Amino acid sequence: MVKPCENEECGKPFIAKRRDTRFCSASCRARAHTLKSRREYLLARTSAAAGVEVVVPTPATPATARLERRVRGLEAAIEGARVEAVRGLGELAAELRVGRDQAADAVAELSARVDTEVAAQARRARAAATEGRRRDARLREVEAQLLRVTTLLGALEQRLVALEQAVVVATARLGGTRR
Ligand SMILES: [Zn+2]
Repeated sequence: MVKPCENEECGKPFIAKRRDTRFCSASCRARAHTLKSRREYLLARTSAAAGVEVVVPTPATPATARLERRVRGLEAAIEGARVEAVRGLGELAAELRVGRDQAADAVAELSARVDTEVAAQARRARAAATEGRRRDARLREVEAQLLRVTTLLGALEQRLVALEQAVVVATARLGGTRR
C-alpha cells in the first residue's frame, strides 16, 4: 500500500510492505524518533518551567499516532502561549500591585487630611458661631467639601475594587488554560 512517510520532515509517499510500516526508510524512522524525543524533552522542560505536568501518551496505531502528533504540536503551542501569558500576567500583576499600593497610599493620605481638615473646619465653624448667616454658609461649605472628599474616596475605593477584579479575572483566565 502507498502511504506518506510519517517523518514530518519527509512526508513522501512510499510503498509500505506492511500496514504498520510508518517510515519510508530507516533514516526517516530514526529521524522521527529523534524529533519526537526532542519535542517531548522541550515540552517537558517548558511545562516544568510553567509548573504543569504533561502526560505524553504512547501512540497505538499510525492514525492515532498522527492525531497525537498534532495534539502534541498543539500542546507545545499552548504551552508556549501559556508561558507568555504567565510572563505577561506577572508584569500585569506587578503593575497592578504598584497601582493598588499607590491608590491605598492616596486613600490613607486623604483620610488623614480629611480628619485634620474636618477638625480645623469644625473649630473655625464653632469660632464663627456668632456670625449668623456667614456661619451657615461656612457650614454648608464644609459639608460640600466633605462631600467632595467622600466622593473622591469612594472613587478611589471603586478603583481599588476594579483593580482587584482585574487581577481575579486575569488569574481565572490563566487558570483556564492550565491543565
Ligand atoms: Zn521518509
